[in-house]
Amino acid sequence: MTDLKYRFSWDLLGDIALGRPNLGPTARLEVYRLMQFTLRDVLEKQFGTEKADELFREAGYLAGKEFYAHMLGGVTEFGDFIKKLQEVLKEMQIGVLRIETADLAAGKIVLTISEDLDCSGLPEINSEICVYDEGFIAALLESFSGQKFEVKEVDCWCTGDRTCRFTATTLRE
Ligand SMILES: [Zn+2]
Repeated sequence: MTDLKYRFSWDLLGDIALGRPNLGPTARLEVYRLMQFTLRDVLEKQFGTEKADELFREAGYLAGKEFYAHMLGGVTEFGDFIKKLQEVLKEMQIGVLRIETADLAAGKIVLTISEDLDCSGLPEINSEICVYDEGFIAALLESFSGQKFEVKEVDCWCTGDRTCRFTATTLRE
């Protein structure tokens, strides 16, 4: 791949304690959503809906890989992994994770995220919107298990549900 000016690394998140001694590490959620949905608008206009979704999913996947490496890890049992993930997602105010079913032998997990950072409270548009989360969750599960997962959002605030529900299925060779 060609050289990138801003290849992602965790360092790009910066030294927030140094840089924001007065304002601190949090910002209003509207600002995060403003960034996300204006970027999505531009990407969709330039590349179409399908490609924009693909780009968001890929960015979510990259985020999930980095997030796992820096925030999770060090756990070997699935139950411990989920517990740690729930704690971190809540502490960072990303969302409230619940596991509905987990059949690890069959490689199928159904999970929900309530009060989701990306979509909770959005207008209903009859279409699931959390493609970034799909990539993010796929990368977390893959990082933990070493297996590739396909993650699909099946219910979303934007489809009239009050939680986002995702199915995760292992991709078998
Ligand atoms: Zn959603």
